[in-house]
Amino acid sequence: MFSYFFQNNYSDEYEFTDADLNVIRILRPIYGNEYDFSKVRYKKHFKITLVCPQHGDFSSSLKILSLGSGCPQCNKRRTLNRISKHLNI
Ligand SMILES: [Zn+2]
Repeated sequence: MFSYFFQNNYSDEYEFTDADLNVIRILRPIYGNEYDFSKVRYKKHFKITLVCPQHGDFSSSLKILSLGSGCPQCNKRRTLNRISKHLNI
């Protein structure tokens, strides 16, 4: 399944480290294809960058991301959708 990461176009420019791949292994089942993982660079105590196809880059700690928080802009929209559904408008 993860052989996919070695066949993409940007692998020439940057090769994921084992630590990066570990992060992707954790996050991919949570987010699936929702976000682009090509900018994942694992550094201890640094935030992880994911790319939202609609809103661009966003960064968060691995802990937060592994809880499924996702793109903050998408989250805002989801919350609004939930509220408007609730209010029936
Ligand atoms: Zn987004």
